[in-house]
Amino acid sequence: MDQHLKDIASKVNNGTRITRSEAAWLFKEAPDQALAELATKAKRRFHADDTATYLIMAIVNYTNVCVAKCDYCSFYRLPHQAGTYLLNFDQVCERIDALRTFGGTLVAFNGGFHPKLQLTDYAELFSRVRSRYGADLEFFEMTVAEFMFSCKLSKLSYDEGASILKAAGTRWVTGGGAEILDDAFRMRHSPGKFKVADYFKAQNAILAAGLGSTATQVIGFDESLDERLNHLEALRTFQDSAPRKLPSFLCWTYKPWNNELGGHEISSHEYLRWLAICRIFLDNIEHIRTSVLTQNEAALEGLKFGANDFDLPTEDEVTQKAGSTISHDFERILSAARGAGFTVRYRKPFPL
Ligand code: SF4
Repeated sequence: MDQHLKDIASKVNNGTRITRSEAAWLFKEAPDQALAELATKAKRRFHADDTATYLIMAIVNYTNVCVAKCDYCSFYRLPHQAGTYLLNFDQVCERIDALRTFGGTLVAFNGGFHPKLQLTDYAELFSRVRSRYGADLEFFEMTVAEFMFSCKLSKLSYDEGASILKAAGTRWVTGGGAEILDDAFRMRHSPGKFKVADYFKAQNAILAAGLGSTATQVIGFDESLDERLNHLEALRTFQDSAPRKLPSFLCWTYKPWNNELGGHEISSHEYLRWLAICRIFLDNIEHIRTSVLTQNEAALEGLKFGANDFDLPTEDEVTQKAGSTISHDFERILSAARGAGFTVRYRKPFPL
């Protein structure tokens, strides 16, 4: 074995943190098999090698109105454009009822930066939804990005905003809207969205208020390896001293259709190799999740590259508009996981 690989493997075996230059070397140079084995070793800190968990969920896109104008987005419409929508309470409930017919148990709300929705509007909607569905479902009620915009619009600090959500009964937001957490990347593609330091300030306020949140990354735009690693490093550093831990990290891939940026889709092979780097580098995040939403059955190979968990999504307009296809043949998808040698178990939402 290459001496450099041996040295990194020895760090992973001892539970020693790897550096970003080691992560870069692994991504560029390590053979697939060695990378998968290292990621499996890193996964062993938290999980058995051959088991995986999943749940059925829907991403309910309650509005496509957005003023952020990210060039990689295929979903949004500006307020004055044709084809805008804002779902009312009954329409939201119809989407949730559709999820229940699939036996799903998690609803993630995701919309745009709507210039007329105050944070209290979100809090009221989510509170009504929870009253209707009681303890049957879990809800991810905003992404951090939407939370940030709404706080600014409502002239609230992040601490005040998080307290309002907490008081209204919100349990979870997600770390969605993060894409690549690197300011140069953000200036190129989404200058109207947020700066990285501000994102972590909002995450901190959310966690400090006693809400749960998650970590995410999207790859395959035109980001450099350095920019990808900046994202992972910022996340790992944040997690070291976060007021409560982010339980999970989900990486998915950019789809290049129907948007201003365009480009090419990265291969599943590249995705799997990057997933392994995420598992090895993010040594302080328990659950590394692979994306059926953007990789379909190929995502299940990710269980061999360090992932331990996945969603079976029933709908998500954001990625479907960009070119994703969602299959409701869950048995076929699960067989891909079983065929790869994994015992799969339906899980409860992660504990707060
Ligand atoms: S990615 Fe999100 S914030 Fe950016 S334009 Fe699309 S909906 Fe708006």
